[in-house]
Amino acid sequence: MAATILDGNKIAGEIRAEVAAEVKAMSAAGLRPGLAVILVGHNPASEIYVRRKVKSCEEVGIYSESHTPSQNVSTDELLELVTGLNLRDEIDGILVQLPLPAQVDSKRVLMAVDPAKDVDGFHPVNVGFLSTQRPGLVPCTPAGIIEILKRSHISIAGREAVVVGRSDIVGKPVAMLLINANATVTICHSKTRDLSGVCRRADILVAAIGRAGMITRQFVKPGATVIDVGMNKVMDRAEFERLFAGNAKREEAFRTRGFALVGDVHPEVAEAAGAVTPVPGGVGPLTIAMLMANTARAAKLRRGSRKVELSRA
Ligand code: NAP
Repeated sequence: MAATILDGNKIAGEIRAEVAAEVKAMSAAGLRPGLAVILVGHNPASEIYVRRKVKSCEEVGIYSESHTPSQNVSTDELLELVTGLNLRDEIDGILVQLPLPAQVDSKRVLMAVDPAKDVDGFHPVNVGFLSTQRPGLVPCTPAGIIEILKRSHISIAGREAVVVGRSDIVGKPVAMLLINANATVTICHSKTRDLSGVCRRADILVAAIGRAGMITRQFVKPGATVIDVGMNKVMDRAEFERLFAGNAKREEAFRTRGFALVGDVHPEVAEAAGAVTPVPGGVGPLTIAMLMANTARAAKLRRGSRKVELSRA
């Protein structure tokens, strides 16, 4: 039986609607959440991401502003910018769009972001909060994966979850969220032995690798839920054929655009899995929706209690 397709666009739309309602109520109470985005230079992909983030803020009613230092900005100049944003009360979230240019010490810049405004959830303070189950800000893509599972009524507690990939932005935090939700979790990486055998144990398999269609049918236990985080551009005809031979819709798009957007999971997996996220339209849309949710949450965590105190005084 063909797998259920987990529709990320639909789930992201639900989350955005919930955030919009919350932001409306918060704004009426004088607590409009605000997001500042820092975009250095002219990286076309980063510019597209930032445009989408700003547009999403407009849609849900979050105040946003963009800061666009030039490509040759220094670490000190960026630190000064971040420090200024840390001090502004109406800014609840600070997002530094990566990658930063080579001359910039990215780690120093990210460390300078006030953890209470770290809506990407990358600061070690938030990493610590996540691993000790304290209230904090959780990285957007991993948080979105959990939303997909929960809103699709896929149970997590007590189940075997395997995460392929151990990056700080996806693999590790999603593994931590799955542990916190009581799954039994295995993290795999490029040195894992018998990767397909380990993956076949999974009731929930998360692929965050960055290799087009690497997770084939033999990696998947029949009926498993497969979450495909990968976002890869395939331009090679032979590689395209390996993944999409006989798929007329994909063929047409490949011929027109000259490339195909592909996840880490081979399309044939949909014949064995119980549920899969598509690429595009699976995990991707959740990332920006969770950024909106995180910005509203940051406002509540940082300013909400003060607001209540003020209204009591
Ligand atoms: P990353 O930092 O490059 O990490 C990739 C991980 O995959 C590493 O842990 C690496 O292992 C592991 N890996 C690589 N080749 C492997 C192999 N042959 N067998 C087993 N493990 C292997 O990537 P990332 O930032 O986590 O991103 C992963 C993918 O998700 C990319 O395609 C990225 O574009 C996509 N992504 C999508 C979103 C979204 O919103 N949809 C957000 C973020 C990322 P080692 O640690 O041993 O090197």
